[in-house]
Amino acid sequence: MAVLIDYHCHTDISRDSRAPYYDMVMAEYAAGVRHLCVTDHCDPVDWETLGFYPPCLDVARRETEAFEAVRDRLPPDLELRRGVELGEIIFHPEVMNTLARAPGLDFVLGSYHITREHGDFHWMDYSDPAFCREICDIYLRDLQWTAEMDYFDVMAHIGYFRRYAMAQGVDLSLTLREHGDRIEHLLRTLIQNGRGIELNCSGLRDGCGPFPSEEILRLYRDLGGQIITVGSDAHRLDNAAKCVDQGMELLKTIGFRYIAVFTRHEPRFIPI
Ligand SMILES: [Zn+2]
Ligand SMILES: [Zn+2]
Repeated sequence: MAVLIDYHCHTDISRDSRAPYYDMVMAEYAAGVRHLCVTDHCDPVDWETLGFYPPCLDVARRETEAFEAVRDRLPPDLELRRGVELGEIIFHPEVMNTLARAPGLDFVLGSYHITREHGDFHWMDYSDPAFCREICDIYLRDLQWTAEMDYFDVMAHIGYFRRYAMAQGVDLSLTLREHGDRIEHLLRTLIQNGRGIELNCSGLRDGCGPFPSEEILRLYRDLGGQIITVGSDAHRLDNAAKCVDQGMELLKTIGFRYIAVFTRHEPRFIPI
């Protein structure tokens, strides 16, 4: 494999990371990444109160400042891009519309971590099967709504709540057997709207499998989906680029020939 690509990582601009921007960029480079996009959280919802979270208004500016501060020190063969992980679009669509179009951004991941009904997926109790069915239902409803919005380039980590369920000993995933029609509708919407999906490799690192699952990745390819990115979702320096090589290999096995990278929201396709 020629070079590694990582289009999902965090720095201390994110509330849940303490990794300095330059150190994260250089850790990614040292791991072999040559196409890198830093995607700090830009969330309008406070995960504790579910109220509005004003620091989201500043993330794109801080991202640009951090980028400008290091650009002269970057290795010449590293293509570094500016992104954000735009979360919880369902809560404040007008604010997100403005943030998604912030000047200087190359790439926007559209993601979803907090439900109106039950708060953050991270803190849910997955022991009741009926509750798990409801959660899958809410998740797919809100992803579909998000997919129909024009606020992002690539949808992040479909089905990632599997991680939190597994931590409680519950094997929960979005399967085509149970949700095939809705997942197909979601993927078709993304494809028709010119958006992509990511293969989030954090689950490979943690033993939860890829997000989305392999069968959803295959369906996306079969439906004609071409825009796919790959990301480690590293929040710590020692996770920089972790498992993106496995993720790229998996995409190759499934039949993808290219991985997308972005400049000013325009995809370019790197052969794998
Ligand atoms: Zn996320
Ligand atoms: Zn992330």
